[in-house]
Amino acid sequence: MIKKRIFTPGPTPIHPDASITMAGPALHHRKSEFKEIFRQTLANLKAIYKTTHDVLLFSSSGTGAMESAVVNLLSPGARVLVGSAGKFGERWEALCRQYGMRSTVIRKEYGDSIGADEIAAHLEKDPQIEAVFVQGCESSTGAAMDLQEIGRVVARFPNTLSVVDAITTLGAAPLHTDEWKLDVVIGGSQKAFMIPPGLAFVSVSPRAWEKSRQSQTLRYYFDWKREQENQSKNQSAFTPAVNLVQALHQATRFILQDGVDDLVANASLLARMTQQAAQAWGFPLFARNPAPALTAIAIPPPLDAEALVADLHKSFGAAVAGGQGEMKGKIVRIAHLGYYDAIDLLGLLGAIECALSRLRRGHELGAGVAAALRVLADSRNTS
Ligand SMILES: *Cc1c(COP(=O)(O)O)cnc(C)c1O
Repeated sequence: MIKKRIFTPGPTPIHPDASITMAGPALHHRKSEFKEIFRQTLANLKAIYKTTHDVLLFSSSGTGAMESAVVNLLSPGARVLVGSAGKFGERWEALCRQYGMRSTVIRKEYGDSIGADEIAAHLEKDPQIEAVFVQGCESSTGAAMDLQEIGRVVARFPNTLSVVDAITTLGAAPLHTDEWKLDVVIGGSQKAFMIPPGLAFVSVSPRAWEKSRQSQTLRYYFDWKREQENQSKNQSAFTPAVNLVQALHQATRFILQDGVDDLVANASLLARMTQQAAQAWGFPLFARNPAPALTAIAIPPPLDAEALVADLHKSFGAAVAGGQGEMKGKIVRIAHLGYYDAIDLLGLLGAIECALSRLRRGHELGAGVAAALRVLADSRNTS
């Protein structure tokens, strides 16, 4: 008997309420029943974002919303600052390059974070930089950035917008869009939102709207203004992924029952359990400032991280992520964001113990699980 389980930092497990609604009859996207679902879903997204500004919804993967930020905010030749310390930072670089922006890149080693002080130093040198692009969590390395500080620094520069890929931050780490003065915050459905891939979100501050009116970059599907005009009437400009919106409606209701802070605390607990397990196994964490959304564990040679990933999949039906690019074979990544609980994680850590006892001699079976259990038991005694 093997059950399939997914532990990757996107896609993540689907909430049962979302699965049930997706199996129901098709709704038409211009009829009142769907419009009401759409309206409530946008309102729920704003509550999760902690914003009173617009949150636009697109039927695309997260990268679509990232691209929408570049084309709606900037004209070709605009000077921008990009923080890059992993595969998703490199995606910001590629997007800005593709649209002819002139980028300055703060490049850090994989596993490092981008510091607000480094951003401040660049902006002081060149206050005409029009936008700063960062991740809240660089999912390829498991590193967290300090978005509160980054928001505070960028807000000091009246000509500069902060644009955050928060695809693995929303619902996984604290995020206060308005209070932290983040101009554009991007989310994706297949991460903490507990539904399949196919929807992306983008919040737009008044300052970002102002800027978007001046952008000369060509755009059609991802035009924010047309989308906002439609969404203010509880519709989208084009046919949305109707069943995914219904799923998101259910999932956001579930999230808001206990509140997004509860979901964030859950990810944080699972992250701490995993971090302690890694330490007990003698494996370092890959990120110097690890994020709660996922834990990237460095697997030292002669062990091969890909062999561990393969054994977990074959013997236990558990899909964990390996490393991308140069990190392949060197790390495994375990997700905590979204619909996971302690039993899910304890099962996975147990399976990793089994796999390790096959892959390395003298593995002390149970040390990692015991360390994780101590974190769990402590948290239950104090709450
Ligand atoms: C998953 C993810 C994305 C989005 O990727 P898509 O495949 O386009 O949905 C972007 N940034 C980060 C940090 C991610 O984790």
